[in-house]
Amino acid sequence: MTGPRVVVLAGGVGGAKFTLGMREALRRRGAPEATVVVNTGDDIWLSGVRLQPDIDSITYALAGVNDTERGWGRAGDTERVNAELQAWGAGWPWFTLGDLDLGTHLARTGWLREGLTPTGVLERMARRWDLGARLLPMTDAEVDTIVLLEDGRRLHFQEWWTRHRASLAPVAFENPGIADAAPAPGVVDAIAAADVVLVAPSNPVVSIGPSLAVPGMRAALAAASAVVGVSPIIGGRVVRGMADVCLQAIGVETSAAAVAAHYGARAAGGVLDAWLLAEEDADAAADVAAAGIRPVVAPLWMRDVAASAAIADAALDAAR
Ligand code: GDP
Ligand code: CA
Repeated sequence: MTGPRVVVLAGGVGGAKFTLGMREALRRRGAPEATVVVNTGDDIWLSGVRLQPDIDSITYALAGVNDTERGWGRAGDTERVNAELQAWGAGWPWFTLGDLDLGTHLARTGWLREGLTPTGVLERMARRWDLGARLLPMTDAEVDTIVLLEDGRRLHFQEWWTRHRASLAPVAFENPGIADAAPAPGVVDAIAAADVVLVAPSNPVVSIGPSLAVPGMRAALAAASAVVGVSPIIGGRVVRGMADVCLQAIGVETSAAAVAAHYGARAAGGVLDAWLLAEEDADAAADVAAAGIRPVVAPLWMRDVAASAAIADAALDAAR
């Protein structure tokens, strides 16, 4: 195998689209499969099963069984079990679990109960399909994201995001227990062996933020060969979802340059060497450069796999 060894830090849907493009770009280069370090801050226990939404989004997308229209879950899924759970008053009425999706959660929960770690569970799940990438959770510890509200309430991230559609003003995001967590086995080694680490165009606060907060992760990135990020902001707007609310809560403007500055230059203790920003944000290149990060302007719409692969190529080239 020739070509770059790649690690991607990713959240769910944005991470999945980018990972699909990266898989394509690496195949064309005859390069080894990428290692994808996936956010587990979205994870939750619900109706007795463990959900890992970002891990499932990426797994389903790489397997080609994801629902591309709805944007989450399995294609062609049904909701018979969910209706029965609602009839029992179990779970959350505003959180739909598809039948096929529940199969995943049951399998995972069974293996966790048998003593497998989340890393071991994911390895077993990945055997079912030819994913074309190696998936690792950011950590094996349970560090589900909690949202602190202005009125002092603390909600699980999924309740805040899915039930309230991020409409309740947040003051902070926390991952209880993360100070005692460690990167999952293989994560630090993969970063050390990589020619380049890519920060996917994922939610900087609740998808990439938890990964960077795992002790040891920033040190691993500081020692990496190269780190390149891709802006999830295009034309000063989040493309999809409610990342702007998350950014606002931590005092970061919704702009490509502000997110780059939030990640920071590696030379100044941050995580980035270079930052891909959209053509719509070309004006912001000078601000990115002023933060000590090399700006690279490219089309950043992940319209289809070809477009995502072109972005992946641009990110790999930016690492040189
Ligand atoms: P989630 O975990 O499912 O919310 O997904 P991620 O955190 O991985 O990604 C969500 C982010 O992806 C959103 O905040 C968007 O800004 C970004 N995003 C979605 N589609 C695109 C796209 O086509 N191009 C770029 N550059 N960013 C995108
Ligand atoms: Ca997510």
